[in-house]
Amino acid sequence: MLGPNLVSGFSVRVSWASGPATPTAPQFATQGHHIPVEAAYAGRMLRGTAVCLGTPAALARDGATHLLLGGEIYNREAIAGAVGNAFLTHGSDAELVLAAWLHWGISAFRILNGRFAAVILDSGGRIVLATDHAGSFPLWVRADEYGVDVSSEAKTLARGKSLAVDVPGAQLIPRGAGVHRVPAGTALILETVQGEVRTSSVVRTWAPPLSRTAPAPDAAVAKVRELLGEAVRTRLRDESEPTVVLSGGIDSSGVAAHAVAHSALVHTVSMGTDVSDEFEAAAAVAGHLGTDHQEISVDSADLVRELPWAVWAAEITDHTILEYLLPLVALYRRLPPGPRRILTGYGADIPLGGMHRRTERLDFLDAVIAHDMATFDGLNEMSPVVSGVAGIWSTHPYWDRDVLDCLVTLDAGLKRRYGRDKWVLRESLTGMLPDATLARPKLGIHEGSGTTSAWTAELLGRGVPEEKVEEAKAAMARRMHELIVLGGERPEDVSFDEVLLSTESALRLERRTVT
Ligand code: ATP
Ligand code: MG
Repeated sequence: MLGPNLVSGFSVRVSWASGPATPTAPQFATQGHHIPVEAAYAGRMLRGTAVCLGTPAALARDGATHLLLGGEIYNREAIAGAVGNAFLTHGSDAELVLAAWLHWGISAFRILNGRFAAVILDSGGRIVLATDHAGSFPLWVRADEYGVDVSSEAKTLARGKSLAVDVPGAQLIPRGAGVHRVPAGTALILETVQGEVRTSSVVRTWAPPLSRTAPAPDAAVAKVRELLGEAVRTRLRDESEPTVVLSGGIDSSGVAAHAVAHSALVHTVSMGTDVSDEFEAAAAVAGHLGTDHQEISVDSADLVRELPWAVWAAEITDHTILEYLLPLVALYRRLPPGPRRILTGYGADIPLGGMHRRTERLDFLDAVIAHDMATFDGLNEMSPVVSGVAGIWSTHPYWDRDVLDCLVTLDAGLKRRYGRDKWVLRESLTGMLPDATLARPKLGIHEGSGTTSAWTAELLGRGVPEEKVEEAKAAMARRMHELIVLGGERPEDVSFDEVLLSTESALRLERRTVT
């Protein structure tokens, strides 16, 4: 297995005056080896740490312009062609993005299709911070009067002691000591004016489309097949043995089917618990595709106790999203160590409306899709840190920019058709998967793995009344976020049971006060 060759996380400070010393080595959740990164130009210093898988070139340089890239780019051939330098396809992704920047300027970020975050120190002394269309490589920023700290993980910045200043165009996180999040599909240009940092431009580089197209069904099916195949192919890079996390649902089975079409050997892995699993459905797909398949069973009581790791990875307080991510975090942590590139079927339901499978009316279905697309940013579901906690690189073909643009804009009548949800995707996979898989109803990861019910059972067992379960989960998630992300505690030092106990007593106290 070759494994990924990229920067999977970083934390750097760009400074223009000697201010307070940068705090000690950042504590990343992302596992990988650390390399120092350093660049200087015209009184500006960029200095910090990159977390690496393989031996990537983290920094690229052209004259006075320096660029730090986390993640990877998927439309490499198109960029190299447009820039007129075929050799770029052989170089690093950081060099490719730098060439795109030199060619197009800020609009390069409207052309690049990838899972990345970039920091540029340009020849005019400006600092550019850019995310991909989906913000799928998180970018956090904290500015003070001496410089700007930029990181792929909020926890590395959240205890900054200096006086933080506002970063217009980025979103301040509550109680985060001045840490801001760069939104999805955004490039911020920061400048210093008389020693003070200012956002000079906020450039939106992608927005979820609101228009819809109504192609002939056959044409739509062919397009989805072609684009998903291409998204999987470009995500395999040179990996000879990719892994697909496979539930046996249509989304991950589709990714596995396309991966098999491009690789000699595909590993698939499924997880389940004592409460629930989808092993049979996944094994049927693996058998059909001839993948090297593995099942991993986790005790559900152990699974919920890994919630602190999910918070550590995703850095969010939304308990529903944490329920989706927890089984994946638990699965990744149980895979044998070593380099690994994972493809998932995550996120297909958002543009296809898969979660709204009982919504009959097309206008309602389209409205919820528009709503979900308008509100995804900040949920951090696609973060690479979810697998990074196990030193693994993961990538999500359904959130490839071209796949996403295509799926979002399709007429809702192609998403729900003949009473079937995700119709266009299922049709596009005809002939590649068993009929039973093509027809299999959706089952959410939190349902298939029993995560939701296991967490609920822990709360009910503690005496939390049923109608308070959601509230208690939300309170637990907030508390863990406070301890781990804002407070800098390690996940192994935060006990699920203690947080549960304190939440339960707080709720009891509240009940007593109310009555
Ligand atoms: P469907 O939406 O039709 O159920 P799916 O199961 O592939 O398809 P989700 O349920 O949305 O998709 O789950 C999101 C992704 O998480 C999956 O595509 C898959 O990559 C991964 N996943 C979900 N459940 C499991 C599981 N039990 N084992 C391994 N991976 C899983
Ligand atoms: Mg599923």
